[in-house]
Amino acid sequence: MNLARFPRVRLTHAPTALEHLANLTRLLDGPDIFIKRDDNTGLATGGNKTRKLEFLIGEALAQKATRVLTQGATQSNHVRQTVAAARKFGLEATVLLEERIGDGSPDYYGSGNVFLDRLFGATIETRPGGLDMNAEIAAVGEGLREKGEVPYLIPGGGSNEVGALGYVVCAQELVAQANESALKIDCVVHATGSTGTQAGLLVGLEGQNAHIPVLGVSVRAPKEKQEENVAILARKTWEFLGCRGDFPRGTVVVNSDYVGEGYGRPTPAMVEAVTLLARHEGILLDPVYTGKGFAGLIDLIRKGFFRKGQNVVFIHTGGSAGLWGYRDAFGFADPLARSDRR
Ligand SMILES: *Cc1c(COP(=O)(O)O)cnc(C)c1O
Repeated sequence: MNLARFPRVRLTHAPTALEHLANLTRLLDGPDIFIKRDDNTGLATGGNKTRKLEFLIGEALAQKATRVLTQGATQSNHVRQTVAAARKFGLEATVLLEERIGDGSPDYYGSGNVFLDRLFGATIETRPGGLDMNAEIAAVGEGLREKGEVPYLIPGGGSNEVGALGYVVCAQELVAQANESALKIDCVVHATGSTGTQAGLLVGLEGQNAHIPVLGVSVRAPKEKQEENVAILARKTWEFLGCRGDFPRGTVVVNSDYVGEGYGRPTPAMVEAVTLLARHEGILLDPVYTGKGFAGLIDLIRKGFFRKGQNVVFIHTGGSAGLWGYRDAFGFADPLARSDRR
């Protein structure tokens, strides 16, 4: 696949490491678990949006944009990385934060990603939950154009066929790493939300005839809806790249059993997964995406869906900045008692 014909900037510290989780593997007594460290992509505490932004910012610069405009939930990792990337390339950034959670803690509205959005100097607007947020940024973009600006609109999660190219690149990188170390990958597992990661991975793996299945663990939509949404973007990305034939729809597999009460709502299994990775591997997962994704992997190992002798790669898509918005979910909201100083 020829990716060099698309405008692109360099942001990612690539290749990201592919590591064996020896302690977790021993603890769960199932498949060998590997982790691809896309939490360490090198931009503003990292995460999967960095790879997408290489192509999105590339296109923004090619279109002589003055400002990027995007949207996400209050604790959006996508928004944080987008603002940082825009800054690096001399662009202004306006972001719309959707209040998908109405009853979050003060940390949720002020710390974590929100603090970083402010630090990077974003112009922030908020919206109540449930609006068509891509229509909201379109309206704001119209206003900016009337003022003589050239806004570049990035959809939620950076998930369109341009952003998905970043995960086509990741698929190429992963297969190269597997070949180098003679690692036979039985399944790739990751958290899926706005669909760009899974769509890009599937197109990239299929385009290389890799024969590596991908399981997306949904953090929001039910299985059928998420599979349909991933398939729609995968098809678009496939055509955008000029791949021959039809994108094979049957490769899209999503499990939505680990969402809990909804997007961004903590679950006990998420807390367990984040705590296990922290205490046994020294790795930070996040409360909204990778915590639920890894909780899915743990449960599927315990149920025997993944077995001893197999090799499973979890793609760590980042998000640890969000932990600071969720201290209360871990029972750590209270400060330590002060010791008596004499
Ligand atoms: C956005 C995000 C995801 C989901 O990726 P999509 O491409 O939106 O499906 C997973 N993990 C983290 C930490 C994210 O920020």
